[in-house]
Amino acid sequence: MPASEPGRNCPRCPRLVAFRKTWRERESSWFNAPVPSFGSPDARLLIVGLAPGLRGANRTGRPFTGDYAGDLLYATLSAFGFAHGHYDARPDDGLTLVDCRITNAVKCVPPENKPTPAEIATCRPFLAATIAEMPHLCAIVTLGRIAHDSTVAALGEKRARFPFGHGAAHQAASVMLFGSYHCSRYNTNTGRLTPEMFRAVFAEVRRHLDAVPA
Ligand code: URA
Repeated sequence: MPASEPGRNCPRCPRLVAFRKTWRERESSWFNAPVPSFGSPDARLLIVGLAPGLRGANRTGRPFTGDYAGDLLYATLSAFGFAHGHYDARPDDGLTLVDCRITNAVKCVPPENKPTPAEIATCRPFLAATIAEMPHLCAIVTLGRIAHDSTVAALGEKRARFPFGHGAAHQAASVMLFGSYHCSRYNTNTGRLTPEMFRAVFAEVRRHLDAVPA
């Protein structure tokens, strides 16, 4: 099992390396590197996003920080007691996660927000290692089908057994998998995901965690 975080200059995906190089030249003050997970490995809840947003996590260096998806995600986490403090779209805003950790299926920003199947598979060992280093893990929220399917594969399970669906929950060994549409601006603008639908998923997660011993 590799370390859970790739190095800053991870060479595994040539297309993502080239994209990173372009943005390092264009915006030298940005983070422009694989974005590490946020939150303690001791958490019981892991949230798996797709990949860093170009002007969000790729700029700031913290998952979901600095773009619309983060506004909805962190507000929802705060509402259910999974985050503490004020989210201000900056990695030094003092926000802390409570019994919760956030990672991405793909650690580097992909062009057009679209990692290729090969890139998703190449980054999966880091996701598997992220999961493996969480001894108290008992719930995972997957944001969107790509994050879901990669998480199922990282758990060593078959996609057909654990199909993605918004609001669908599956018990995979000791971990309950909760699927949600991704909290992207596109999904909320089109009405595919409403803040209420997103909150309903986290209400289920909270119920589940409250029912298992801490
Ligand atoms: N930011 C992230 O870190 N991940 C996403 O999936 C979207 C935005």
